[in-house]
Amino acid sequence: MMSRRKKSRNSQPEQQPAPAPEAPPTADPQPVDNSALLDRLAALEKAMEVEDVGPVVQLRRQRAAEEARTTRPAGPAPANATHCPYCGTPDSTTGWRLLEVIPGGWTQTEGSRTGWACRTCADVALPPYVNGSRSIPNSYDLRSLLISAHFGVSPLRWLARFGGRYGLVWEYATKPGTGPWSHVPELDRWEHVATLAESRDQVGMAAGPPMDWDWYFRPPVTTVERRYDFTLGVTRSELVTQHEPRRDSSTPECLAEEEQLVEELLKAKRRKEKEDQAAASAAAARKARAEEVRRHYLEHRKSLDEQHKAARADLRAQYLAVLEHEGLQP
Ligand SMILES: [Zn+2]
Repeated sequence: MMSRRKKSRNSQPEQQPAPAPEAPPTADPQPVDNSALLDRLAALEKAMEVEDVGPVVQLRRQRAAEEARTTRPAGPAPANATHCPYCGTPDSTTGWRLLEVIPGGWTQTEGSRTGWACRTCADVALPPYVNGSRSIPNSYDLRSLLISAHFGVSPLRWLARFGGRYGLVWEYATKPGTGPWSHVPELDRWEHVATLAESRDQVGMAAGPPMDWDWYFRPPVTTVERRYDFTLGVTRSELVTQHEPRRDSSTPECLAEEEQLVEELLKAKRRKEKEDQAAASAAAARKARAEEVRRHYLEHRKSLDEQHKAARADLRAQYLAVLEHEGLQP
């Protein structure tokens, strides 16, 4: 009895606050003005409310407060920010997140380490926790990861370096733009580079050119060169042994060659996949056929066994009949 009374007293303040905020809309259509009464009721309920200090409730309340402090809905940048420090958008469609420590090369004001970033960029720079863990990308990789996220390709940590081989530069915003990354020049070329990079990744290549083994195994070359001798103070001929410099792999011809190579590798990979699939289905078909043949054999063996058994029984019956007929029974 005691416990039920206690329970009802405890649950009363929890149940009652719920209808209080809903009451004004229902009161609207009625001409009677209940607002004074409702206000008084709300004040009374607030006074009676016992604070729930359970750990789960406290944690949930902390989380909600943290969420309210560090996030803003989609729309223009929050009061003390003008744009996303990465993509420069002044008006985010995905909302805003407050970053306690801004990773990457953000240099707005020295000493200011906290700032608002649009949620798309913030989720790449400081990913939210998933099952209590997260991995924060290194600031050297962040640019590449932001490019990958912008073009919707799989996260490639070498994309900025690869774009550099095409003479493209990806910078963080220093002033508000008109949209995400609107300050980056040649976005359409970047998009092309991002798709190329994704196919490179599929064939296991990264930003750099394939290894030039011809160059690697070429022996050093000895030549005669005129050099100034500081001790003698004269210019004289000297034997100089040195490796050839590696050829520049970022020329348009080399890049076109690489694109061709990637294309061929991709084709070969797809062909291999198709062949593997065909081989697997052929193996499955062979196995199914072997199974069918075996089932056939077992069926026939069984019927043969039955016939054999019947014939033996018949023979034995004949044998006994002959014995009986001739009076030779043991
Ligand atoms: Zn952004």
